[in-house]
Amino acid sequence: MKRQIALQLSGIERRYGQGDTVLSILKGADLTLHRGEIVALVAPSGTGKSTLLHVAGLLEHPDAGEVLINGRSCNNLSDDERTAIRRADIGFVYQFHHLLPEFSALENIMMPQLISGLPWNETRERAGQLLDYMRIAHRGDHRPAELSGGEQQRVAIGRAVANAPLVLLADEPTGNLDPATAHYVFDALEALVRQSGLAALIATHNHELAARMDRRVTIADGKVEEI
Ligand code: ADP
Ligand code: MG
Repeated sequence: MKRQIALQLSGIERRYGQGDTVLSILKGADLTLHRGEIVALVAPSGTGKSTLLHVAGLLEHPDAGEVLINGRSCNNLSDDERTAIRRADIGFVYQFHHLLPEFSALENIMMPQLISGLPWNETRERAGQLLDYMRIAHRGDHRPAELSGGEQQRVAIGRAVANAPLVLLADEPTGNLDPATAHYVFDALEALVRQSGLAALIATHNHELAARMDRRVTIADGKVEEI
């Protein structure tokens, strides 16, 4: 069976102007992510990992090249259309959880679905399932400040996939965790990806975690290379 492509980056260029100088970060980066696969993005600081993830997640416009989500080019979309795709098809996880402090873990996971207009009961049920999946069902009523770092990140992952996106983009999601906790959080993430068939691109400095993923890519001279 032919594997379906979830995300395709083709010829992505990204430059930043700094005074008189222009910094070329991405210089024709290509990457294809299939459904159900987890790909590690491993590269030194400053090489453009976050930039690549932001372009892939439609948070930044590339200066050249094309982002295709589920086969659809995102080049000539309006801001509203980009927002709609971001909401429905893309989940983003950051190094720091960015959970809403006033809301419980369960409510944080419910939020994206409520914003999408799903009924409260359905939203509640899905958030409960995700907590269960992340093995933190017993922590659902707690606010982020009452959770450990690993629990906070699992809630953040739950929130990122609450709307059943096609693509999960994670920017050093375990960078702030001790090694054992990082593996535990990755276990949960992996179970979720395998079960849902989404595609994940995960920037990490953790080589042991990277070794557990399906493929590893790096950024060298502004291009994505398999390693
Ligand atoms: P990484 O995530 O691999 O550490 P980044 O994608 O954050 O790398 O950044 C790549 C390079 O681009 C860095 O040199 C950074 O300083 C520069 N950069 C990133 N964002 C901006 C910006 N908004 N303006 C100017 N330079 C930027
Ligand atoms: Mg970064």
